[in-house]
Amino acid sequence: TMRTRFAPSPTGFLHIGGARTALFGHLQARRVGGTTVLRIEDTDRDRSSQEVVDAILEGMHWLGLDPDEGPFYQADHAQRHHDLAIQLLESGHAYKCTCTKEELDEMREGQRARKEKPRYDGRCRHKTEEPGDKPYVVRFKNPEQGDVVWEDMIQGTIRIGNKELDDLILLRSDGSPTYNLAVVADDHDMGITHVIRGEDHISNTPRQINLFKALGWDVPVYAHMPLLHGTDGAKLSKRHGAVSVLQYREDGYLPEAVNNYLVRLGWSHGEQEVFTTQEMESLFDLTRVGRSAAIFNTEKLVWLNSQHMKAATPARLAPELIWQLARLGVESPDPAFVEAIIPEMQERTKTLKEMAQMALFYFRAPTEYLEKSVKKHLKEAVLAPVSDLVARLEGLSEWTEESIEGAVKAVVNESGQKYPKIAQPIRVFITGSDIAPGVAEILKQLGREESMARLQRGLE
Ligand code: GLU
Repeated sequence: TMRTRFAPSPTGFLHIGGARTALFGHLQARRVGGTTVLRIEDTDRDRSSQEVVDAILEGMHWLGLDPDEGPFYQADHAQRHHDLAIQLLESGHAYKCTCTKEELDEMREGQRARKEKPRYDGRCRHKTEEPGDKPYVVRFKNPEQGDVVWEDMIQGTIRIGNKELDDLILLRSDGSPTYNLAVVADDHDMGITHVIRGEDHISNTPRQINLFKALGWDVPVYAHMPLLHGTDGAKLSKRHGAVSVLQYREDGYLPEAVNNYLVRLGWSHGEQEVFTTQEMESLFDLTRVGRSAAIFNTEKLVWLNSQHMKAATPARLAPELIWQLARLGVESPDPAFVEAIIPEMQERTKTLKEMAQMALFYFRAPTEYLEKSVKKHLKEAVLAPVSDLVARLEGLSEWTEESIEGAVKAVVNESGQKYPKIAQPIRVFITGSDIAPGVAEILKQLGREESMARLQRGLE
């Protein structure tokens, strides 16, 4: 069965490109009943920190991408990686190289002068004497002939001549293992069957395949994902939204909408745009991911988010809205109340952040009214019927949506004013602006006492 891994280097938070890589592996594993593994590639100690690892884990958790196994830490396996390099030395697949930096510089200069690609020319490959106390690195004896060929699940057949590859360093002079050795060793030791990663790793793959073979191990299946670009065609950067995925939570996106957005970058299923998590997990197929670079487009993300918000149950949205409300200073609102106010706002807002802003009046009386709304709605001509309405509301025997609606309609009929002329001033008094759910809905939800207090204040 399939075992796939996501292997971020903890040098920064989980951004949208990394999340897409993790998502594709997760979805493919879900569809075929496979297992996902998270491996933190923390061999660059200076650039890794626990804080960053925690941010990656939190980002994955928010997107529902918790791994089935892990996190494992690559640095924990340094001894094993070291031992494998020694094993390769002993089996004749590697050698000690004592070239100094000066020698290497000179070699490359000569190659450049002859218009050759700079590469290590293997000059230490056939040396027989031991380095003694000279510092040395351990290099892999890359095969000199033939091609490395693999069937990439996304890119198709890739063929690279061994002549293009030089003898890569396995152990540095301080004895520490290098990236390619560590990745191959861990992928094997963790039983990884499918390596799903960014296209920027394609150049490492033939080297890694040669290493797998030298170690006598099965080569995994590879899938190299096209990179993400901004709408201007440039590689995705902060400017385009390549910020932490947690920023998307703050901005009010649902994780399922972000996933839906990311899955559609490069993958399609007929004309369908909106996918539930369950649909993504049962339909996604890596072999149907396109090869061209995907373009990040915030407008589409917003649209998908609004679709997911409309389709979600209030129970699904309530904890998310409560999270957003907390950011606006609303402490522990009653979850049942939050669920009750959601349906009226689902159609009216595109993000949870907008929804929280709209909902704020339920928890806090407006301290002032939006000037624009005042000018537009609190006209002289409607003040008399509006105070008439307030009086009627005061006298209602029961406080339901129907009874409130009845009072509004009665005043509309008697005054000969249009419905919005009467309703909008009420919304302004209650919320401070005219962006809110329907009048009867908000009065009912807010309750008689609080509603009347705000209306009286409005009339003063
Ligand atoms: N650690 C590498 C990165 O973050 C990924 C290595 C891999 O997937 O093989 O780019």
